[in-house]
Amino acid sequence: MGGEALLKQAFIQGASDVHLFSHPYTPFMRWRIHGKLTDRMPIKPIEMHQWVSRLKLQSNMDISQQLVPQDGYLHWPESGIHARVATIPTVHGEDMVIRLIPSQPIPLQQLGFDATIEATLTELIHRDHGFFVITGPTGSGKSATLMALAHELAQLGNRVVVSLEDPVEHVIMGVRQSSIHPPTGFTYESGIKAVLRLDPDVIMVGEIRDAPTARVAIEAAYTGHLVLATVHTPSVVATVRRLYQLGITELELEEGLLGILAQRLYPIYCKACDGNGCPKCQELGITGRCANGELLYMPHGTHFLGFPNQLNEGIIWHPRTHPHG
Ligand SMILES: [Zn+2]
Repeated sequence: MGGEALLKQAFIQGASDVHLFSHPYTPFMRWRIHGKLTDRMPIKPIEMHQWVSRLKLQSNMDISQQLVPQDGYLHWPESGIHARVATIPTVHGEDMVIRLIPSQPIPLQQLGFDATIEATLTELIHRDHGFFVITGPTGSGKSATLMALAHELAQLGNRVVVSLEDPVEHVIMGVRQSSIHPPTGFTYESGIKAVLRLDPDVIMVGEIRDAPTARVAIEAAYTGHLVLATVHTPSVVATVRRLYQLGITELELEEGLLGILAQRLYPIYCKACDGNGCPKCQELGITGRCANGELLYMPHGTHFLGFPNQLNEGIIWHPRTHPHG
């Protein structure tokens, strides 16, 4: 099977990542499906070399260079395949990882959230101003949630929605999307300042990583814009601490913060085998993943003295954590 057929098969079977492990004699491939790695699939050394070279070429990488890490982007319109491709030289040869990107964002209703969270997010996008943060570790699906909200906002069609991303992966009709580019000075901070001059109603920020970005984001929120952003933290309480660290004051949070969603992806266990692995679930034991998490939502403003240290746990809504599908 050639590289293109292999990627199509991985895509059809729901893989998010294809790993190619080089070795002079025994190279192999593994796929990640629903967060789990499949078994090693052996590949002939000559085939591995051909695939890596061909995929590098198609991803606009320098095929003559095998001794430095490279990254690129692959797009096969006829197969609907979009992928981010990265290589790294290892002691066994050049390894490659292909991250397959679904061509459409997953609709909000299909992310798997409990009804309370889904209803809150649906209500949230009708707000005219305030700051809402989606948080979670790497691979928690927070960007997917942000994109699902962008899609919902585009469907409403009654406001100017601007989205700053690093980089844009899903093109959403009706949303003004831009990829930031720090080497040229187009950062999240300068991007937010620029879009504020473009008559926006809703501003989406791919990730708040530094104090200047946090500052312009919260200021945009309390000057009459709905700002939706992700932050990289594990929980609601950690997010509040992180915002304080980034220089946001308690008063500013009270004025501007609408809420925080701290999410994770949970496995949906295969009904046929109860998670033990069977042909129906490709021996993975799971048939998919669903998002869920803890939610703090304060649409009417909450005065929280000493927050988060004295946070009333009662105002954070915790869902079930072991879904079965
Ligand atoms: Zn099964």
